[in-house]
Amino acid sequence: MYDLIIIGGGPAGLTAGIYSQRARLKTLLLEKEMLGGQIAVSDIIENYPGFPAISGAGLMEKFEGHARGLGLDIKLAEVLTVHDKGKEKLVKTSEGDFVTKAVIVATGAKPRRLGVPGEKEFTGKGVSYCATCDGPFFKGQSVLVVGGGDTAVKEAVYLSRIASRVYLSHRRDQLRAEKIIQEKALSAPNIEILWSAVLKEIK
Ligand SMILES: Cc1cc2nc3c(=O)[nH]c(=O)nc-3n(C[C@H](O)[C@H](O)[C@H](O)COP(=O)(O)OP(=O)(O)OC[C@H]3O[C@@H](n4cnc5c(N)ncnc54)[C@H](O)[C@@H]3O)c2cc1C
Repeated sequence: MYDLIIIGGGPAGLTAGIYSQRARLKTLLLEKEMLGGQIAVSDIIENYPGFPAISGAGLMEKFEGHARGLGLDIKLAEVLTVHDKGKEKLVKTSEGDFVTKAVIVATGAKPRRLGVPGEKEFTGKGVSYCATCDGPFFKGQSVLVVGGGDTAVKEAVYLSRIASRVYLSHRRDQLRAEKIIQEKALSAPNIEILWSAVLKEIK
């Protein structure tokens, strides 16, 4: 019987783990893929106080080391269901069942699909949702990034160091990304922004 089960080992889950260990709660953190969550695949983080520039993986190693140093019990398992049985919650996972008094859901987010024809067919065959994971496959080639927020623009800047040309396709006539990220994209010689453009199909 745990006091607390945390679902998800991203920044939110690991932070919850640090607090729960400090509160001496008997805690189990369950992560289905990779500790660190989405930030672990981010090339560089420049907005975390105390770290002017650190890789996402490097920052998450620090989070993990901090949590483990306090004795946090971490298991790699996918949570399938949570049954609320009043004072007890039954957490069913790919690696067995666990009983706890409380659950924190820190399952984060995943990339939003565009839903255009061709996207599904070409996922993993030219369509990707992570530049730092898959960018090197497109070394010296021309790539297109869809979006105008922080992640899209950051990914375009990262890809501009690998690809020959980067098109940034955005459905509006201005970017939503942080100004400092925009400045990097706008000054990169091989990034071209396709303004007010909506991607319709991938062939
Ligand atoms: C490319 C990229 C660059 C970014 N750069 C920055 C940046 O520079 N600065 C910044 O502040 N933010 C950045 N972000 C955003 C940042 O990554 C997120 O805000 C942050 O990761 C959210 O943390 P989280 O713990 O809530 O969720 P997530 O990081 O999404 O973690 C959730 C975790 O839960 C796990 N999980 C989900 N379902 C289950 C289940 N059923 N069972 C077990 N585990 C499960 C997932 O595998 C995942 O590890 C970036 C994001 C991306 C994608």
